[in-house]
Amino acid sequence: MLLDGKTASLDIKQQLKEQFDNLSCKATLAVIFFNDPSSMSYLKGRKKIADEMGVDLQVISIEDDVDEDKLESIIKDLNDDNNIDGIMVDRPLPKRFNEVKILSLINPNKDIDGCSYNNLGKLVANVDCFKPCTPSGALRLLEYYNIDVYGKDVLVIGRSVNVGKPLALMLTNKNATVTLAHSKTKDLKQKCKNYDVIFLAVGKAKFINKDDVNKNTIIVDIGINFDNDGKLCGDLDKESYDYLDTYSPVPGGVGVMTNVVLMENLLKAAKNNNK
Ligand code: NAP
Repeated sequence: MLLDGKTASLDIKQQLKEQFDNLSCKATLAVIFFNDPSSMSYLKGRKKIADEMGVDLQVISIEDDVDEDKLESIIKDLNDDNNIDGIMVDRPLPKRFNEVKILSLINPNKDIDGCSYNNLGKLVANVDCFKPCTPSGALRLLEYYNIDVYGKDVLVIGRSVNVGKPLALMLTNKNATVTLAHSKTKDLKQKCKNYDVIFLAVGKAKFINKDDVNKNTIIVDIGINFDNDGKLCGDLDKESYDYLDTYSPVPGGVGVMTNVVLMENLLKAAKNNNK
């Protein structure tokens, strides 16, 4: 089965649009953007889905001369602005900023990418909170295709604070038995055949190929890379696609679901904000 993010996202967006239309006024998302060319495609994607949903997107471009104090005051102003429902800070932040400190300034009720310590702590405690959109998008894709991770043996490869770690927690909270692997994991390739589901969040083209996994292992590819021909690809070798029973492709898999979850979270924040 193809875990087709395009089909899933079209379907979910249709239902979301109706709910955005029923708000008392437009939901508003503020995106803090650092003018990094590599982030431009993500911003374009956010603009597109905001337009589709009728969301007011405010892009705050941070120039090179903005220091940490100034960025802190920008976030505090957004926190205090009652019309702003959600705040998203583009990551990674430029090196001159203390990323953890900046992200944790976001009001947890507006932190729709679930990246503040407040929301990450709630994720650990398994209480209701905003969760990071990328791992949520990966799980939303499985959910759309009625694949339940309950009781399954799951391998997550990659332990970043944005993707792998929160994903492992979210899976644990859903009663999967989770192994979180990383660059220091011993004999990783030999272990891949022991799992029902594998999430790839490494960032290396062709990291996994069909010889590494069982045909019936479900592969969810979160990686976004470019192959030698400059074409977008995930961490899974595309030559495995025909061999596998169930996988998510890149492009057209988890990536599109990330923005759908961003909109779901924004809708929740706007409703909580009495819109
Ligand atoms: P990251 O911060 O660079 O983390 C990569 C992880 O992979 C690290 O934990 C690293 O281990 C692990 N790793 C590297 N080489 C490995 C190896 N040989 N064996 C096992 N593990 C290895 O990247 P990220 O931000 O988590 O992103 C991961 C991928 O997801 C990237 O391709 C990124 O572009 C993509 N992504 C997609 C979306 C989306 O919307 N679909 C959003 C965000 C990111 P160590 O911790 O030991 O270094």
